[in-house]
Amino acid sequence: MRVALTGAAGFLGSHLADRLIQEGHEVIGLDNFVTGDEANIAHLLDSGAFRLIRQDVSTYIDIPESLDYVLHFASPASPNPASPFGYPNLPIQTLKAGALGTLNTLGLAKAHQARYLLASTSEVYGDPQVHPQSESYWGNCDPIGPRSVYDEAKRFAEALTMAYMRFHNLNTRIVRIFNTFGPRMRLDDGRVVPNFIRQALRGEPLTVYGSGTQTRSFCYVSDLVEGIYRLMLSEEKYPVNLGNPTEITIRDFALLINELTGNKAGLITRFEEGLGDDPQRRRPDISRAKALLGWEPRVDLTTGLRETINYFRWKEQL
Ligand code: UDP
Repeated sequence: MRVALTGAAGFLGSHLADRLIQEGHEVIGLDNFVTGDEANIAHLLDSGAFRLIRQDVSTYIDIPESLDYVLHFASPASPNPASPFGYPNLPIQTLKAGALGTLNTLGLAKAHQARYLLASTSEVYGDPQVHPQSESYWGNCDPIGPRSVYDEAKRFAEALTMAYMRFHNLNTRIVRIFNTFGPRMRLDDGRVVPNFIRQALRGEPLTVYGSGTQTRSFCYVSDLVEGIYRLMLSEEKYPVNLGNPTEITIRDFALLINELTGNKAGLITRFEEGLGDDPQRRRPDISRAKALLGWEPRVDLTTGLRETINYFRWKEQL
């Protein structure tokens, strides 16, 4: 099959491209490299199964070859205002990737009669008042808060995808991706996993934002890619959560990273950074993914973190 994949040079996009090519498919990758990294796809360029189009997906997309699938993974994805790659510093690009990028990729899929898969997010649940989050929960989002450029773009993207499914009969899928980590995350993207690992490998104290009692549930990238691949091949048109249901407080997560890296510098609390609309609890209910796809994560947090720490050690020579 031939697959168009936006955000192909990003963290998730590049892992997905690897998997698709490994399964014998051909990938046409689109990326404008605002947050993507050429190093993530350098090994694919000579594979004969990968073609790169440098393009901003918020502009009209024209691909002459026939397509079987369109997968939309392009978007800035870090909420950290301290990072140049975070969506608070790329607010218009983030809104355009989620809104115009979704419109253009849906149009591309329609023109080719291709199947479509939207990378959505647990951020559609906002700061959730229901725990754990199942797909039937409508969310608790502030439409003008600091995270709104991402949350509302993705909520719009889901609505648009459903409209193409209902009105144009397009064959669509929506995956709601919870916190995912692994090699190829940007060390400077400001998200908690690269931030803590970078600080730990430099022997610095880890910056815990807010009270540190907020929770997240971290999924290793290979598990996520397996779930996405299964969803892509399934017939499920309604949103499916993918993530690891093992929940941990950010404070305990910091302590675990210090333990795994042997960092003796401890933690420092930055209360002010946790203000705003930082979700206080997040854990996926993955019953639908289990029932529909026979999927659940296999890699435990410590194993995944060891792999990721090794990657950052190698990449940063730390
Ligand atoms: N966080 C933290 N220290 C950091 C970076 C993030 O304590 O250096 C916290 C952040 O406030 C949030 C959690 O870690 O509560 C996860 O943040 P991340 O940016 O990875 O993604 P989110 O799940 O918030 O979108």
